[in-house]
Amino acid sequence: MRLLDLKNKFHLELDAIYGKNEVGSFFYLCTEHYLNVLRMQLTLEPELKIENYKTELFINAITHLKAQKPIQYLLGETEFFGLTFKVNKNVLIPRPETEELVDLIITSHAKESKTAKLKILDIGTGSGCIAISLAKNLPNAQVYALDVSPEALKMAKQNAELNKVDITFIEASILDYNAISQFEGESYFDVIVSNPPYVRELEKEEILPNVLENEPHLALFVEDHNPLLFYKAITNFAIQKLKPKGVLYFEINQYLGEETKALLEEKHFEDVALLKDLNGNDRMLKGRKL
Ligand code: GLN
Repeated sequence: MRLLDLKNKFHLELDAIYGKNEVGSFFYLCTEHYLNVLRMQLTLEPELKIENYKTELFINAITHLKAQKPIQYLLGETEFFGLTFKVNKNVLIPRPETEELVDLIITSHAKESKTAKLKILDIGTGSGCIAISLAKNLPNAQVYALDVSPEALKMAKQNAELNKVDITFIEASILDYNAISQFEGESYFDVIVSNPPYVRELEKEEILPNVLENEPHLALFVEDHNPLLFYKAITNFAIQKLKPKGVLYFEINQYLGEETKALLEEKHFEDVALLKDLNGNDRMLKGRKL
C-alpha cells in the first residue's frame, strides 16, 4: 500500500471517533514509530510504498484505536518533557499538566541545584516521568521515587535506564505508616513531589472511555468520602521528612483546590500557593515547611 492510501484509511476509519486533527497526529506517531519516517517526509513522499508486514501494523493500530485503546499504550511509548518514556497498562500515561508541575519545580530550584545537592522524593512515581525529568534537568539532584505497584516500578526502572539517570526506587505505600521506616537512614529531603490518585468516583462520568477502560484505576481514583486521603498522608510524611524550608509540590484535583490548600495551611506550611494549568484549572499546589 502507498503511504497516502494508509493515511486515507486512517481518516476514513477513525475521524468519526476522534476528529481529523487527532487522527492526523495518530498517523504521524505511527509512521514515526513503525517506519521511522518524519512528518516532513510524509508530505514529500505520499507515493512511498509500504511493505505488507508494515501495512499490517497500521491496520492493527486502526483496530485498537477504534476500540479506544490509547495510542501511547499501543506504541508502548510516549513523550514527556522532551524525553521518551515507555508506558504500559500498569502506569498512567504522562499528562501535559504534569509537565507544567515538573517545569515549576525545575524553574524554582535550578539556581540552588547548581551549588547544592538537592535531595528529591517523588511519591507515586508510576512511569517515573516526574522523577526522571527532574533528575535529567537538575543535574546535582539525588532523586528517590516511591510506588506501591511493583509493575509500575519495573516500568519506571526501565525508563530511568532509557534516559540514563540514576534513581533510587522504593516499593512502598505512602498510606502505610511504616513507609516512613523505609527512610530511616535517610537525612531530610529538599523537595517532595507527588501526583497521587485524585479523581473521585463521582467524576467518573467526566472521564473519557479511552482513559476509563485502559488506564490503571489504582493511579486515578479515590473514594468520594475521602478524596484527599493521599494528600493528607503525604503532607504528614513531608512534615517529618522534609528539611526545614523544604518544599512540597502536588498535582491536584481541579475541583478541590481550596480544600487541598487548606490542608497545607492547617499544617503550618508557608508560602502556600495554588497555581493554574494552561487550561486555567487549579492544578498545582506548593508549600514550604517552616
Ligand atoms: N489528570 C489525570 C486525569 O485526569 C488524573 C491524574 C491523577 O489522578 N493523579 O486523568
